[in-house]
Amino acid sequence: MPRVLAVANQKGGVAKTTTAAALSTAFAQAGRRVLLVDLDPQACLTFALGVDADEVVTSSAEVLLGAPLEDAVVRTAEDVDLLPATLELAATDAALVARPDREAALRDALAPVADRYDDVVVDCSPTLGVLTLAALAAADEVLVPLAAEMLGHRAVGQLLDTAEDVRRGVNPGLVVVGLLPTMVDLRTSHAREVVEDLSGRYGLPVLGPVPRSVRVAEAPVRGRSVLTTSPRSRASLAYREVATELLHGR
Ligand code: ADP
Ligand code: MG
Repeated sequence: MPRVLAVANQKGGVAKTTTAAALSTAFAQAGRRVLLVDLDPQACLTFALGVDADEVVTSSAEVLLGAPLEDAVVRTAEDVDLLPATLELAATDAALVARPDREAALRDALAPVADRYDDVVVDCSPTLGVLTLAALAAADEVLVPLAAEMLGHRAVGQLLDTAEDVRRGVNPGLVVVGLLPTMVDLRTSHAREVVEDLSGRYGLPVLGPVPRSVRVAEAPVRGRSVLTTSPRSRASLAYREVATELLHGR
């Protein structure tokens, strides 16, 4: 069975998509067979990996409602398989709400391809709605990126409460594998203090941090992960370390 890692935080702009792309690229570079799942109707991850959502015929939207996953998967230049998203996913969210088995939607979709992958990485949407619940229900681990400016935000508490609800309910095995401070400017002592304070505050492992780097924004334009476009940038080095920790620290 693959290890399923959900990258989740209901705040937008905390580097979920960047993290999902970077970690899956690092896993693939480590020789692992990786499926990346775009569960955000905005399809940023899909675009960032060079796939035009307007040309996608079958997407995560249809797969969550029962279409075979192998019909929807596309191979990306990062040697990672992608289950792309389209705007249709917003309608799927609404359709799933009406289903009693909605939380099983992703887990059920992944089951037939379980032996093809070592890792499944899920890029969640910036909500705590059905799509994110389906991701948490299918996940072995959840990683929570936090943008440096938002480290004190109560959004993290809400997400951890939601993960706990999922753990008590449909997915007792779910582990919050860590918090990941992103876009951190380590030159400021304030940023360093906030990062140091995090682990005590939430009682969770703190991975990274991932430094702010102008290189990160250039990668999606080329349809690649920053690990490929700027392999020696400080952000890439940090992501590679986080990937190693996730692979060997479990
Ligand atoms: P989310 O998926 O949580 O909304 P994104 O991954 O789309 O967040 O990132 C939000 C913005 O922050 C993007 O413009 C991205 O390029 C930028 N960004 C992410 N990580 C970094 C970083 N380490 N350094 C600089 N910019 C970053
Ligand atoms: Mg995103």
